[in-house]
Amino acid sequence: MTDRREFLKRTFATGIAATIFRPVAGASEAAGVSGLPSHAGIAQTVLGPLDASKLGFTLPHEHVADGAYYLSKWPKAWGGRTEFVAKAVEKLKLVRAAGVSTIVDLTTYDVWRDIRFLEEVSHKSGINMIACTGQRFFPPKVSGVSMPARTMEGLAEFFKKEIAQGIDGTGIKAGVIKIGIVAKKPTTLEEIGLRAAARASKATGAPIRIHTDAANRAGDSLAVILEDEGVNPARVSFDHSDDSGNMDYFLGLVRRGYSLGMDHVHRGMSPDFKPPFEKRAECIKLLVDAGFADKIFLSQDAEFGGSLIPEDAKEWRDKIDPPDGMLFTTRKLIPYLEQIGVSDRNIHTMTVENPRYFFSLS
Ligand SMILES: [Zn+2]
Repeated sequence: MTDRREFLKRTFATGIAATIFRPVAGASEAAGVSGLPSHAGIAQTVLGPLDASKLGFTLPHEHVADGAYYLSKWPKAWGGRTEFVAKAVEKLKLVRAAGVSTIVDLTTYDVWRDIRFLEEVSHKSGINMIACTGQRFFPPKVSGVSMPARTMEGLAEFFKKEIAQGIDGTGIKAGVIKIGIVAKKPTTLEEIGLRAAARASKATGAPIRIHTDAANRAGDSLAVILEDEGVNPARVSFDHSDDSGNMDYFLGLVRRGYSLGMDHVHRGMSPDFKPPFEKRAECIKLLVDAGFADKIFLSQDAEFGGSLIPEDAKEWRDKIDPPDGMLFTTRKLIPYLEQIGVSDRNIHTMTVENPRYFFSLS
């Protein structure tokens, strides 16, 4: 569809990239080289607590649970729920076979989180899943659910409850807090949510991942709020950071101790989004070369439910979903990073060691 896409096709046809990246066997036991604590704590998955050293290769920013919403909107797309679960499991088994051991689902309650669906597909696919609490705050309120609270105390209590007791009346607990901040500066309500997330994180040890407007350097102003709340920056990731492409912005945040989620890299393959794929990948390499592999996460922010949309409604979804779905990182991004000189060791740090540390409740 574009020159870039052609370029990538050629690139990936060459020998070095033709093999699907697979994590080194036993890699999750490897000693840390990144300065992160080498001992692992306990991560909270939808099937219960798990020694974080067993998380293995992890995609830290994805959306699997939203599929149940799409199924309710287009019920004939993949049949009923049973059929959909079976097809989801079939697809997820391919993701597992590509070496992905854990998926973190950042679908909050207000954008169609379906905790029983996540539990079922995790159980049947063999992929560990970590569910989130938090709040997306995006207008319009698509799901039609009302907010549990609008005060800092109320929201913090809600987040803490989902982490410590469980989600939607189940005993399935959240293992991470997701907050959505739409623009450069948070709205009043978004700031209340961010501060509530900070307090819930400090009380429970759960890490925080934030949807950020990286192109407008949102992380800079959000860091001020987080630091005012006394959150350890090592427990926070600014996601969609590769939408920035600005090394000055990246270095400012990683030097303060924050992590960067590089999870929109696929968007750079379309002329509709800047910066281009190669630029996004190059920024990852520059950060690694500068010694910050321990602050980088790789993922692809895929909406699994997007695959349920009927063909004639698919165009808009295709624009933002990765062309390989949940396999973009392993099939395209990592081989490309290897080709431009990022070592296996550093890829291991970004995909195995960082998640092991980050998702350990501490
Ligand atoms: Zn997302």
